[in-house]
Amino acid sequence: MLHACRLCGSNNLKLWMREGRNRDLLYYRCRRCSLWNYDLDCGMDQAQYVESYVSPEQVNHKTNKAIRASWSFLRRHAGEPGSIMDIGCGNGGLLYLARREGWQVRGMELTEKAARDIAEDQGIEVIVGDFLEYENPDNIEYDIVVLRHVLEHLPDPILAMRRIANLLKDNGLALLEFPNTRSLNYAVKRLRKNRGLQRGKYAADWRPGHCNEYCRRSFEYLLRETDFELVIWQTYSNKPMMNAVYRLFPIGSKARVLVRKRQSRLRSEIDAGLDALHRGDFSEMDKNELLNAADEINSASGAVR
Ligand SMILES: [Zn+2]
Repeated sequence: MLHACRLCGSNNLKLWMREGRNRDLLYYRCRRCSLWNYDLDCGMDQAQYVESYVSPEQVNHKTNKAIRASWSFLRRHAGEPGSIMDIGCGNGGLLYLARREGWQVRGMELTEKAARDIAEDQGIEVIVGDFLEYENPDNIEYDIVVLRHVLEHLPDPILAMRRIANLLKDNGLALLEFPNTRSLNYAVKRLRKNRGLQRGKYAADWRPGHCNEYCRRSFEYLLRETDFELVIWQTYSNKPMMNAVYRLFPIGSKARVLVRKRQSRLRSEIDAGLDALHRGDFSEMDKNELLNAADEINSASGAVR
């Protein structure tokens, strides 16, 4: 039994969906933030997503087609080439496309094998590790961080966004893709699952791989809690014909989202103070506040002055 929402901590939860052969895999929707919380006590299976390596040069493979759609979205909004970190980079396909256009690229994957396949085939560096435990030991900050179909697998959404922030420059962008619960597809699936119409589809030992399922509302709650701002929210599906419709009506089964890391508040205060200084309307009191804020930043970052 789940007692509190993993995003907002509210215990105002409603049993929302039953899944599996015995309909004993339970999802609870939070009435406060709208997140669908899967009850992790019912068991998980993340291993079902492991795929064999597909070279990015197999352009007609569905994995690479989906990656091209993500990259064409990202490059439209990303500005001049800089640096990209792709978390859960799969076959490295997005990094492969980005590097061709002059970006510095790096990936992260859970297994040695995935990292080695990419390194050997493409010469792209891939860190092996669990993203939620990765503390960025070299303090490398990227212009862009990408998480395609990763967020829903991570139990702690706040920690996930903090880890992303830790890898980004101030005002850096993150591209995230994940299923959209506020979609036609999810509405129909939920109806069918709750009525037991899909029971025969499941093996007796089948378990889901998603911990948390998001809609725009719950995702925006997450952004507010972690100092990100939403730049673009769009939805899409695997049926390209429908995607023009989903641009108008955001009810596609997947969300493609661009977010920006806000500058830290102290940093914003410093910048505002410096602007005032340049304009020459700088009072004695503002100056002291500015110096105090600078001291706080420096002691927080351990800088030597
Ligand atoms: Zn909640």
